[in-house]
Order: sequence, then C-alpha cells, then structure tokens
Amino acid sequence: MEKALHGVGVSHGVAIGPVRHMGTAVLEPAATRIATEDAPREQARAQQAVDAVAADLIARGNLAGGEAQAVLEAQALMAQDPELMADVSRRIAVGSSAERGVYDAFAAYRALLASAGEYLAGRVADLDDVRNRIVARLMGVPMPGVPDSDEPYVLLARDLAPADTALLDPTLVLGFVTEEGGPTSHSAILARAMGVPAVVALPGATDLPEGVVVAVDGSSGELLVEPDAQRQAELRALAAERKAALAASSGPGQTSDGHRVPLLANVGGPGDVPAALAAGAEGVGLFRTEFLFLDDSKQAPTEEAQVEAYRKVLEAFPEGRVVVRVLDAGADKPLDFLTPADEPNPALGVRGLRTLLEHPEVLGGQLRALARAAEGLPVHLEVMAPMVADRADAKAFARACTEAGLRAKFGAMVEIPSAALRASSILREVEFLSLGTNDLAQYTFAADRQVGSLARLQDPWQPALLDLVAAAAGAAQAAGKSCGVCGEAAADPLLACVLTGLGVTSLSMGAASIPYVRAALAKATLAQCRRAAEAARAADSAEEARAAAHQVLSGE
Ligand code: PEP
Ligand code: MG
Repeated sequence: MEKALHGVGVSHGVAIGPVRHMGTAVLEPAATRIATEDAPREQARAQQAVDAVAADLIARGNLAGGEAQAVLEAQALMAQDPELMADVSRRIAVGSSAERGVYDAFAAYRALLASAGEYLAGRVADLDDVRNRIVARLMGVPMPGVPDSDEPYVLLARDLAPADTALLDPTLVLGFVTEEGGPTSHSAILARAMGVPAVVALPGATDLPEGVVVAVDGSSGELLVEPDAQRQAELRALAAERKAALAASSGPGQTSDGHRVPLLANVGGPGDVPAALAAGAEGVGLFRTEFLFLDDSKQAPTEEAQVEAYRKVLEAFPEGRVVVRVLDAGADKPLDFLTPADEPNPALGVRGLRTLLEHPEVLGGQLRALARAAEGLPVHLEVMAPMVADRADAKAFARACTEAGLRAKFGAMVEIPSAALRASSILREVEFLSLGTNDLAQYTFAADRQVGSLARLQDPWQPALLDLVAAAAGAAQAAGKSCGVCGEAAADPLLACVLTGLGVTSLSMGAASIPYVRAALAKATLAQCRRAAEAARAADSAEEARAAAHQVLSGE
C-alpha cells in the first residue's frame, strides 16, 4: 500500500529507487551474559558473520581491482585471522554474546597493533572498519558510513556532514532524504550541487526499511513509499515533461519584459565548473573557497595550490563575473588550525571574517593567491568577505585587499541582520553586497540552520527576512551599487521573482537550479515581480507570503 510522507523539498526533480541508509557509528554491544548452553550457537553466529564480511570484502575487491583490491583483501584476511577468531570463541565460551565477543576481541587486538609502531598503527583504521562490519551484521543494523551498493539508490541519513560528501559516488546517488537539516543545511546544498532531488526535515525518514522502493519529489517535499508501477510511470513522465520544458529555456536571466537579472552559479571549486557551464551560468556568484581548506584541517593549502584552483575557475568564465568569497571557517565549518575549540556558542563566535582578521597571514595568503590567479585574465574578479557585521569590518577587509595588491571589486556578504539594517554604512567601504540568506535567516530568527525541527524559522519566505533583503537592496540601489543573493533563497524559482521585485540585482545558486529560476523569471514582468514582493512582505507568515506571491505571479 502506497504511503506518503512529507518533508521540505530542497532540490528539484524526482528520484525513484530503493533506499540505502547512511550507516551511523556502530554502537557498543550490551555486555549481557549468555547461558553456557547458548555458547555453540553464538560461536557459529560469529563465524558466519566473519565469513560473510570476508566474502563481501573479497567480492568488492574483485570489482574494484588495483590498489583498492589489495587493501580489501588484506581486510578480509584480518577478519579471518585465526588467533582473533580463537579469542572471539574463548570470550563467547565464558559468557559473551557473539557481538560482544567480536567487539572485545578486536579491541584487544587493536591495542596490540596501536602499540606496535607506525606501520601497524596505520592499519588500526582498517581493523576498526572490519570490526564495525562484523558487529553491524550481527546486530542487524546498517553498515557504518556510505552505503555499500552496486546499484543506484536513494540515500537516507539523519543529516550529512561536508566530510561525508567526499565519499559519495555521484553515479549511484539518485537523491537524498534526511531527517534533520533545514533548507539551508549542507545536505540541501550538496544535493543541489550534485543536481539530485532532495527532501530534508522529514521525520521518521530513517525508520524506512533498507531496500524499500520510494519516490522522492524534491519540489513538493513528498516521499511515496512503495509506489505501484503505474504511479512510478506517471512520476517519471512528469519529471521528463518538466525537464523538457526547462531544456527549452536558455540564454541570460531576465524577466519577460527584459529586466536583466544575471544568473550565476555557486561553486566549491573547479570540479563544479562543468555543471555551471552546462546550466548556462553567466558567471560565479559564490565561490566557497573553504572547500579547498577542508581537505587538510591542520593547515592552509599552499599559495601555489590556491592559485591553481582559483585560476581554473576564473579561466572558465573569460568574460564573466566571478565572485570569490574568502575563507568562511568556524561554526558549522570548523578548521583545527583556525577555529577555537572551546567556544560556548560557535555560530556566534569567531567565524568568517572574524577568524581571518585574527589570522591576517591566512587572509593575506588567499588574497595574494587570488591576485596571481587573475593575472592576465579578462575575467571580472570580485572578492567578498563572509560575516561582515559593520562598517569597521568592511573597512578592515577592503584594506587587506588593497594591501595584497588585488585589482578586483571588494564586497561584503550580508549575513548578519546588523549588516542589512546598516547596509548604506557598509557600502561606504565596499563596492557590492551579496546576501547570504542562509545565515541571515539563522541569525534573524535565532534558529540554528542545522536543526531540522526549526525548518519553519529558516524558511527564506519569512516576511522578516524579506524586509532585511529589501533594506539591503534599497541601500545598494541608492548608492548605485549591486546587491545579489547567493544564499539558497535564490534557488527557489518563485522566490527568485520576489527577490527581483525587492531590487536584488543578481541571483546565484547551485547549477542545477539555474534552468528552473530562468524559466520562472522569463514568465513574469518586473512590475509583477514588484507586486509579488509587496504582497509577500505584507503577509504574516512564510506560507502566506508564498501563497500571496504565487497568486500575483500566476495571475490568479
Ligand atoms: C549564506 O549564509 O547564505 C551563504 C551563502 O553562505 P554559507 O551557506 O556558505 O554559509
Ligand atoms: Mg553563510
């Protein structure tokens, strides 16, 4: 029987396939004692689990080949190590359950390896992985980490951290569903970057059994459990229809009466450039440079490595605009060598520009690398700082840019309500603004963007957030400067029209959303966008604002 669950749709499209759980860390099995007569059965259970894990590792190795095969075969040998198995059996004989026996025997072996010097200690992680696999199998819980699957699947997770993303195989992930996470969470941003449908803040998502077939609609936020063949066919046809309509939209972003709103891409590095170009991005509106720093949280990448990565992105848009954001470390993106470990409230602590002003060598290195990367290229380089709170912040950033010899436009992100309210003061120091609506919502509503149960407050349709957008855009217009949006709000086609009506001058989003936003803008006049913006601001809630704007824009 088909069952429907509802969450928040954050990345368009329809995904249909079996679910696979993102395995959480294996829990320590309970230390309950078993009866002596149960020992042989538990020993057999342990042996079966070990054999199954070893066979699985070997099968995976055969598929992978090369170096990976050698590593997986070594792990299979570890699993079947006779001494280790003898220890497991002995522990079960004196009262441990199979899972507890495996857990404790591996712990003893692990301590031995760890004390045996560097080479063996390096294998401790592999050993832990083998133990987790055997224990997970015995406990009947999903394998830890990214799912093992050879067929495409819909990924289910409590939430996804940036570090998880590196391990995902984009050819296998059909879509994401998470229990936590709001529309601005990393799961949502990642899904858009990968161009796969996603639904977040869906309570009970992780209770769905492994392998059950679901249909996920990333626009409506609906998840259907076990849709029948006819329903699946209907959904596929609908998705294909939408895709075809979108493919027909091309060219620069503009309203139906020709008001230009450049559509730019959010990228995390050169790897995101092909998708941006394919979607017809007119440039980059947010280059999140922290992804270059996340590879090694112990130190900054060298200036050379930075120059290379920046240049690849700049070269991809010869005549276009590329807005690079300097490192935004701290809070949900901590870096060991920069972020204080003991902050009571990291989101309100030393993060973004605050971190960089405390570490001028990191900021200087980044700005010098950018200056070198842009040398000789016709690109319009713009550089902006995250988490600017006031004019003093903007001034300090502009000074650092000048001192680094950077020939670019300097700008400030508007992510803190103070910056939106006093935008005209900030604009005395910088040449453009870019609204980071993800953090702006978080700080306006005192609602952590990582907490799924607060999704209502992180909704960018909240009229209070629209008021702040209007304040910043109005100040920029009065100063004759530009004010874009690079937060996830720009990726919502209806909201993109409202933002245009509020006076925003460009929209930057994950590449996959560009065609949707382009198509929505092309259907509305500027006057309609303005009326929709007025109607949305006059509402008392996000739902009312959305409905009011929809009414104006659909001409109902
Ligand atoms: C924002 O806060 O809206 C933004 C674009 O920055 P990030 O999502 O990287 O914090
Ligand atoms: Mg931000």
